[in-house]
Amino acid sequence: MSVPRNRLWIGNEWTDAGDGRTFPTVNPATEEVIAEVAEAGPEEIDRAVSTARTGFADGGWRRMNPHKRSQLLWSLADLVDANADELALLETRDNGKPYFEARRIDVPSVAQTLRYYAGLADKVQGDTIQVPGPFLNYTLREPVGVVGAIIPWNFPLSMAAWKVAPALACGNTVVLKPAEQTPLTALRFGELAAEAGLPPGVLNVVPGFGETAGAALVRHRGVNAISFTGSTEVGRVVMREAAGTLKKVSLELGGKSPNIVFADADLRAAVKGASMGVFYGKGEVCAAGSRILVESAVHEEFVEGLKTLAAKAAVGDPMAPATRLGAIVSEEQLDRVMRYIESGRRDGARLVAGGERIKVNGRGHFVNATVFSEVDPEMAIAREEIFGPVAAVIPFDDVDDAVAKANDSLYGLAAGVWTRDIGKAHRLAAEIDAGTVWVNTYNQYAPGSPFGGYKESGFGRDLGFQSALEKYTHLKSVWVALDR
Ligand code: NAP
Ligand code: MG
Repeated sequence: MSVPRNRLWIGNEWTDAGDGRTFPTVNPATEEVIAEVAEAGPEEIDRAVSTARTGFADGGWRRMNPHKRSQLLWSLADLVDANADELALLETRDNGKPYFEARRIDVPSVAQTLRYYAGLADKVQGDTIQVPGPFLNYTLREPVGVVGAIIPWNFPLSMAAWKVAPALACGNTVVLKPAEQTPLTALRFGELAAEAGLPPGVLNVVPGFGETAGAALVRHRGVNAISFTGSTEVGRVVMREAAGTLKKVSLELGGKSPNIVFADADLRAAVKGASMGVFYGKGEVCAAGSRILVESAVHEEFVEGLKTLAAKAAVGDPMAPATRLGAIVSEEQLDRVMRYIESGRRDGARLVAGGERIKVNGRGHFVNATVFSEVDPEMAIAREEIFGPVAAVIPFDDVDDAVAKANDSLYGLAAGVWTRDIGKAHRLAAEIDAGTVWVNTYNQYAPGSPFGGYKESGFGRDLGFQSALEKYTHLKSVWVALDR
C-alpha cells in the first residue's frame, strides 16, 4: 500500500518544506507508517508566520463583521460534524485511542468548542470607566495578533480546538504546530477551515519537531503570543525562549492529580470514578487522577474494587468496540511507562493489577490497566507524571492528612473529592491547590468552564469566556478630552 503524503497547510494551500523534507507518522496499534508528513523547520515557520501576519494586518479577519466571523466558526463546527467519521478514524490511527472515544467524545467536543467560541466573536467588548476631570475613558479589547499554538499528542484535535477557536473568535490569526506523533487531524482541520470560508492566512498548520519548528515559532518576532500545552519540562523551555521577544505566554502543563476518596463516600461510585479518572484515554490525560488517596478505613475494599475494574478494562484493537485501552501513543512512551512500573516494583509498592507490556495480534504498543497499592508518597510513581494507565493508591488518616498529601506535589492541575459530607467537599475544594476540583465526579469538561493549572502545572486557562478574552486580547485604554 502506498503511504499518503501530507503537506504543510499555509495560506489555505498545501505546500512542501523547502527541501522536500518529510517525517513518518506511525499507527501505534499496528506499528505501520500511515503517512509521510512535510516537516516544517525555521524557514517554513517563517513562511507560515508571515502569511499569518498578512492575514492579520490586512484586516480581512480582525475587522470582519463579527457576526460573519461567528458564522464562519459555526460553519467550521458543522464541517467537523459532517466529517466526524473521517476525523475520528485519523485520530485513532495516529494516536491509538479507541475509535469510539475519538468518534463519540473528542470530535463532538471539537464542534462544541467551536460553537461556544462562535458565540464569543460578537461579544468582545470593553468598559467605560469613571475618571476624574473632563475626560471620557474607555477600554477596547483588541486581538493580540499572530498566536503560535503548540499542542501535545494525547487529544490532538481537541487541543487544537481549545487553542484555535478562542484565538480566532477574538480576531487573531494562528500558526498551529501539532505534536510530531499526531499531525494528521490538525492538517485536515486546516483544510476544513478553508472550506468553511476562513480567509487565507487565518489558520496555518505546520507539523514538525519541537526543537526545530516549535522553538522557531516561540522565538519568532512576528508571533505575539504563545499558547502552549505540553509537559512541564518543555513549558520551562518555552517560557525561557519567549523571554527574548517578551511574548504573551500561557502554559497548560503536566499534572499528578489527587483523587481523594473518603470513607463516607458512595464507594461504588468512587471506585468507578477513580478507575475512569486514571485509565480513561490510556492515562495519557494531563488531568489523570493518578494519585488515588484513600481513607484507611476503606482502603482494602477500595483496592479490591479498583483491581476488579482494572481487570475489566479491555486492552485491544482501537477499532474494536469492546476496547477500553487502546495503544500507547509510541514505543518511546510505552518504554517510559514500563520504566515507571519497574520503579514501582523496585521501590516496594504492591502491584495488584496489570503491569504487563502487551501485543495485540502480534503488534503494537500496549499495556494493561495497572494498580499499585501501599504506595509511599515519596516514591517516583507517586510524584512524577507517568502519562500511562498506572494508578498509585496511597492511604490517608483524616481530612488534614488528605489535604496535606494532596498538596504535596509540584503540580496543581486537577483533583477529585469523593464524600457524602457537603462541608468536607467544599472545604477540600477550597484548600486544594488545583485549577479544577471535581466533587463526586471526575474528568468533566465543558467549553465554558476554564481549565488550567496552579504551581508547575502552568498558568493561563484554556476554555472559559473571560479567560479566553484575557489570553487572546490586549486591553487598551482610550482617553478623550471633552473640553476642547
Ligand atoms: P511535550 O513533549 O512537552 O510536547 C508538547 C509540544 O511541544 C509538542 O508539539 C512538541 O513538539 C513541542 N515542543 C517540544 N519541544 C519544544 C521546544 N523546545 N520548543 C517549542 N515546542 C516544543 O508534551 P507531550 O509529550 O506531547 O504531551 C504530554 C504532556 O502534555 C504531558 O506532560 C501532559 O500533562 C501535558 N498536557 C497538558 C494539558 C493541559 O491542559 N494542562 C493537556 C494535555 C497534555 P514535538 O512533539 O514535535 O516534539
Ligand atoms: Mg502517530
